[in-house]
Formats: sequence, structure tokens, C-alpha cells
Amino acid sequence: SLPHSEGLRVQCYSETLEAQQRHRLNVQNALRGATDRGEMSLVFQPKLSLKELRITGAEALLRWKHPEMGHLSPGLFIPLAEASGDILAIGEWVLEQSILQAAAWQHRPWISDDFHIAVNVATRQLARPHFAHMLLARMAEHRVPHRLISIEVTESGLMRDIANARHQLAQLIEAGISVAIDDFGTGHSSLAYLKTLPISTLKIDRAFVMDLEESDTDRELARTITQLAHAVDCDVVAEGIETAAQAAYLRSIGCEMAQGYFYSRPLPAADFAHWCAHWVPQATTPHHHPLTHG
Ligand code: C2E
Ligand code: MG
Ligand code: MG
Ligand code: MG
Repeated sequence: SLPHSEGLRVQCYSETLEAQQRHRLNVQNALRGATDRGEMSLVFQPKLSLKELRITGAEALLRWKHPEMGHLSPGLFIPLAEASGDILAIGEWVLEQSILQAAAWQHRPWISDDFHIAVNVATRQLARPHFAHMLLARMAEHRVPHRLISIEVTESGLMRDIANARHQLAQLIEAGISVAIDDFGTGHSSLAYLKTLPISTLKIDRAFVMDLEESDTDRELARTITQLAHAVDCDVVAEGIETAAQAAYLRSIGCEMAQGYFYSRPLPAADFAHWCAHWVPQATTPHHHPLTHG
């Protein structure tokens, strides 16, 4: 039989697993109706052009505060919502809120001609045969110009049903809604398909950005992904930029846009508007911002 201490360790381990599973189950149960109960909200992270440091948009990111469990990370609950199907209702709520926000912001002085709110669209949402039609109908309802919204889809979202994905994306692109592939390089997309899909932007995953300063390999990968994107006529957004050196390197290899804590964390709508109103492109020397560094 096991020595006493080892038996204890085994017991603790299975208790932890059990507790984790219980937590996941609680989260999954609490997901249904969370938007109706007012527990969810959106935050907005600025997207900037790397050359002039102009604000070119915002990514809308979902936040959930449960009354007992507190703040829950989308990294945890989005996959659970995908599995249960709750992502369909939640995703429609996210789109609706993003459209309402675009309507509210559209005449603000800091909104440039190319400003857009980028909305994350889950694989199951895009798989719906009427996804594009629903999105365009919502925008028409709120009289929001199409250019103010863009979508981000993952490689698995595209590859699951390539024929339907192509059909949905073609309708969106036709209507002037641009489409980005999110977390590029972490999934399994086929380059042969990539060439044939109406995609305007590739987002380099944070995994390739975080070690740029230390890793020759990551610098080479970031450069290769950028060249690949340009070869298929896409712009490149780098996500997760946290340092000036990362930004400088990405700019030097021709990456067009940037997003990351170095510029700003995702912010509640009112704070985002305040941030934008105070942002000075090419402020003083490199990347100074009165709110984030002052
Ligand atoms: P994502 O779409 O790749 O979003 C970028 C994530 O990186 C966000 O995490 C953002 O807060 C984080 N981030 C941005 N800059 C930095 C940085 O400089 N450093 C670090 N460490 N992180 C940074 P978040 O908000 O936790 O979201 C995680 C993922 O959850 C998203 O990854 C996306 O896949 C998913 N997600 C979030 N909101 C939604 C939504 O409304 N719908 C769907 N379907 N998925 C969503
Ligand atoms: Mg995204
Ligand atoms: Mg991403
Ligand atoms: Mg990511």
C-alpha cells in the first residue's frame, strides 16, 4: 500500500479535479440567461496604426461578473458556451451591443474614416446559414454604416465548413464589413484555402509577440507571417504588444496595426471614449500617452 503522504497527495489531486469539474458545471449552468440578468458587458481595446499611431478601431471583448463567482475569464467561459450552444444567444447580444456602441460613437471627433469595432465571432455563430443576413439586418435596424463593424473569426471557424464560411464572408465583404482571422498561426488553416477566402486582415497571435525580444525564431516567424499575409493581400494586426521594443520590431517588418497593453488595456465604453479623446497621434517621442504613462 502507499505510504501515508503519497495517499494524501493522490486524494488532494482528485479533490482538485473534482472541484474544477464542479466549477465548470456551475459556470455552464450560470451562463444561460447571464446577459438578460445584466451580468455581462463589453470592454473595448484600441487598435492603432503602427506608423502614425492613429486610432483605427477597437476590439470588443466580453466581460462577465457573476454575483457569487465574481469575474470569470472569457478564456474559460467562451469554450463552455460554445460546447453548450449558449454562445449563439450570447454572440447575438455581443453583436447587438457592439452595433449600439458604434451608433453612439459614430459622430465623435476621434472616429476616423476607417474606424471600426471588431467583434469576435465564434465558430458556431459563423456556422449558421443566416449569420451574415442577421448581422446586416441588425445594422440596418440601428442605421449603422457597415464600415463601422468588422468581425474576427478563428481558423477553426473557417475550416469547419469552408463552403458555408465562404458564403457568409462573401456577403459581409460585399456589404463592406471586413473580416480578420484571429490568433493566426495557432490553428490549422490551409494556405490553399486562405488564398481563396475573402479575408482582409490577419491577426498575429500574442504567442508570437510575447518573446520577440529574446527569440530569434519568434522574430523570424513574425516576419514570415507578415510576408505571408501581404502575399495574400491582407493587412496585419499584432496583438498582445506590451513593450516599445516589440512595437518597433513589428513596425520594422511592415506590420500595419497594433493592439496591446503597451497602448491600453481593454476599457469600459466611457473610459475608451475618454482615452480616444485624449490620444495624440505621434504625441511626443515614442508612444507617450498621458493616461497610460502619466
Ligand atoms: P482574442 O480575440 O485573441 O482577444 C485578445 C485577448 O488578448 C483578450 O483577452 C485581450 O484582453 C488580451 N490582450 C490584449 N492585449 C494584451 C496584452 O498586451 N497582453 C496580454 N497578456 N493580453 C492581452 P480576453 O478579453 O481575456 O479574451 C480572451 C479570448 O476570449 C479572446 O481572444 C476571444 O477568443 C474570446 N472572446 C472574448 N470576447 C469574446 C466575444 O465576445 N465572443 C467570442 N466568441 N469570443 C470572445
Ligand atoms: Mg479577437
Ligand atoms: Mg486574437
Ligand atoms: Mg489571441
